[in-house]
Amino acid sequence: MKRKRPRKPRFPPRQSDVIIRPDGTVHVSFLWNDLCSVFRPLIDHRTGAATAIPEADRQPFSAPGRRRINVPATDYRKCRLCPNECGFDRTASPHPLCGDSSLRVATWGLVHGDERPISGDRGSGAIMFSGCPLRCPSCHNPEMVAAGVRVTPNRLAAMAWDLRKRGAENLQLLSPTVHIPALARVLRHLRGCGFDIPVVFKSSGYESVNELRKFEGLVDVYLPDVKFGPRSRWAESAGAADYFDEMRRAVEEMYRQTGPLALSPRGTAVRGVLVRCVPAPLPSRERGTIERFLRTLPKGIHVSHTAVFDRLG
Ligand code: SF4
Repeated sequence: MKRKRPRKPRFPPRQSDVIIRPDGTVHVSFLWNDLCSVFRPLIDHRTGAATAIPEADRQPFSAPGRRRINVPATDYRKCRLCPNECGFDRTASPHPLCGDSSLRVATWGLVHGDERPISGDRGSGAIMFSGCPLRCPSCHNPEMVAAGVRVTPNRLAAMAWDLRKRGAENLQLLSPTVHIPALARVLRHLRGCGFDIPVVFKSSGYESVNELRKFEGLVDVYLPDVKFGPRSRWAESAGAADYFDEMRRAVEEMYRQTGPLALSPRGTAVRGVLVRCVPAPLPSRERGTIERFLRTLPKGIHVSHTAVFDRLG
């Protein structure tokens, strides 16, 4: 009898999203595979190098609003975009983690692996940016964070329109922290042109409150991670010993801006905060502190412990 040849995995399995739940059970999500199978591959996953934008992507999308979106380079001169507030001049040379003052896209497309209120039926229109102020030892997207293809703010706006045209439930900005000045301007431009799907801000949770205020009225849904507890050795090795305190302040500001999570009749998020608990394999005391913090959150903030949203409806 002819033996069936095992199917070759399309992407290396090492990049799966592994989440340790508070009760100690392990959840392996296939978010990475979903991402890879639907995103246009801008990154060579073996070398981590960014490839050129495919020819089809070079074609101009039809996007409303021809006005040029200007982002003053001065916004990156003494960079204080994340709670590190290191003051690095990103216009003079690229910061080793955060890059220069250019907008860089690692990958983009429709994603179906997020929580139900984010993915809905048609998928979330995700754009993942390069550059991150954290150095998490458990990072599952190191290649994407490191490399990226430079895009102009107008091109980013056109990508957002393209995702909307393809039926995206929302526009999801992943890893946006080091590009805040450009993103705030692009979102203002999109709103001015009638961009009418919810905007989701998906971040590590390590955000500066002053910078988040720039998104008031521009972001509809915040999707911050909760990664580390207080005095965490993992947070220290990620270069953010103050992670827990900064994350708490950021979540408070996010909730102030959006209020409780509101769903459309089809069950997709139109406004609010959804906290994603993605702790590294932390000591049980640290995990306990995180759990206690999650229990103190206002009722309107919903908590997702896995890539499968299970606390609603
Ligand atoms: S985003 Fe990067 S360059 Fe800017 S303050 Fe944070 S660590 Fe420094």
